[in-house]
Amino acid sequence: MSFRFDNTYARELPGFAVRWQPTAVPAPRLLFLNRDLAEELGLDAQALDSVEGAAIFGGNRVPEGADPVAQAYAGHQFGGFSPQLGDGRALLLGEVIDRQGRRRDVALKGSGRTPFSRSGDGKAAVGPMLREVLVGEAMHALGIPTTRALAVVATGEPVYRDRPLPGAVLTRVAASHVRVGTFEYFAARNDVERLRLLADYTIARHDADLAGAPERALGLLRRVAQRQAALVAQWMGVGFIHGVMNTDNMTLSGETIDYGPCAFLEAYDPQAVFSSIDHGGRYAFGNQPLIARWNLARLAEALLPVIAEDETEAAIARAVAQATEVIDAFPQLYAAALLQCHRAKLGLGPAGPADDAADTALAEDWLALLHRQGVDFTLAWRRLADAAAGDEGRLRTLFGDTGELEAWLSRWRARCAQEDQGEADAQARAARMRRINPWVIPRNHRVEEALAAASDHDDLGPFQQLLAALRQPYEEAPEQARYAEPAPEEVTSSYRTFCGT
Ligand code: AMP
Ligand code: MG
Repeated sequence: MSFRFDNTYARELPGFAVRWQPTAVPAPRLLFLNRDLAEELGLDAQALDSVEGAAIFGGNRVPEGADPVAQAYAGHQFGGFSPQLGDGRALLLGEVIDRQGRRRDVALKGSGRTPFSRSGDGKAAVGPMLREVLVGEAMHALGIPTTRALAVVATGEPVYRDRPLPGAVLTRVAASHVRVGTFEYFAARNDVERLRLLADYTIARHDADLAGAPERALGLLRRVAQRQAALVAQWMGVGFIHGVMNTDNMTLSGETIDYGPCAFLEAYDPQAVFSSIDHGGRYAFGNQPLIARWNLARLAEALLPVIAEDETEAAIARAVAQATEVIDAFPQLYAAALLQCHRAKLGLGPAGPADDAADTALAEDWLALLHRQGVDFTLAWRRLADAAAGDEGRLRTLFGDTGELEAWLSRWRARCAQEDQGEADAQARAARMRRINPWVIPRNHRVEEALAAASDHDDLGPFQQLLAALRQPYEEAPEQARYAEPAPEEVTSSYRTFCGT
């Protein structure tokens, strides 16, 4: 089974991770294998769909060339700093260069205790690992940067949570696992040498054009700000709530990582929180851009000694000023990314800066309208595409008070008319809108249903059907209608997701 590993993290970064082996599991059985992703990585999907593949992805057989390590990192969790977190139940097997020449991390999650496990058991359960598959694949199909699941193996042993649950190991593929918390780990130890090494390593992996350049650490901070602004804008565009935006769950690559207590909006509500542990609503839907900025500020602080030319007070003061400028610019970066996202969703082409304020107001007023009337976020956008094609009836049925809707629609139509020459343009707009406004998202009740069948009854049917629908989010196929319907209100109002299980 030939993974072509080239493990720079384990090889080039002493003191960043601990060499460690996965814990063997009693009865590894493949529940999921991502064939497309396997192909992307240059692997033989057919050969991996086997007893041997289950042994590899369950952690019983370390593939040749792998050099498994538990990575060290720290993190701000719900605002409080933990100087040592690290891979408590994960191992980086190594890095594979994919068919396109990109370096991708291949890591196990749920592979047993490590030196970073603290009081945890190092394990994971079937439900949460399959959730990571479903939501990650949905995000990928929606064009949103994300880590992806390569495989899930049932271990054949229980894990003990509030009740015994079937255990699982997930294999996760990521552009890298470098997190804001990785920088915080070395900053907390005043280890400037390793901070510098980590900055250069991250630059080599994600911003190679900055390698060797003067002020490259500041350049890296700027790039991360851009990537996070773009990422969170995309989350906001599909109604995704990450749920636990701790700094250890924010990547430098700009990929979404760690699908724990995540959820999707049903009715639009900026204050929506679904995580059972987010009592203060810190990671509420509408807070996500603010939290991204807060996390970036933690990254900037950690990077300061590397941004500064030397240790003099003057150099540090200059570094603080430069980093502050990047953090202060984040809201504009985010606003620009969100406007770009909203324009596309509204079916509008890029317009001159003179129209920015008007288009921003048009988008905000649409969202305010959805909020006031408790309209389903996903369906509202989707039916707006129908309206662009001339069918406004289906859109109207989503609203209680259509008067308000009419007023907004007339503004939107006028804005569209500025761009259109005729009917063909309107149809092209509708087609564009249907390629960006999904019909199917991972609705929470459907995800739960699929996970319960898999976890409680060992029935993977609902999981597979939902996954197939999520991989075609823009296809309005009648047989997938059940995945497009909103959850009953009583389900959504009591919906809670649980972290890290
Ligand atoms: P998460 O909330 O999944 O991002 O995890 C936060 C931290 O807790 C990381 O350091 C994890 O490795 C650790 N962790 C979560 N669950 C477990 C577990 N069952 N056993 C050991 N460590 C865990
Ligand atoms: Mg995490």
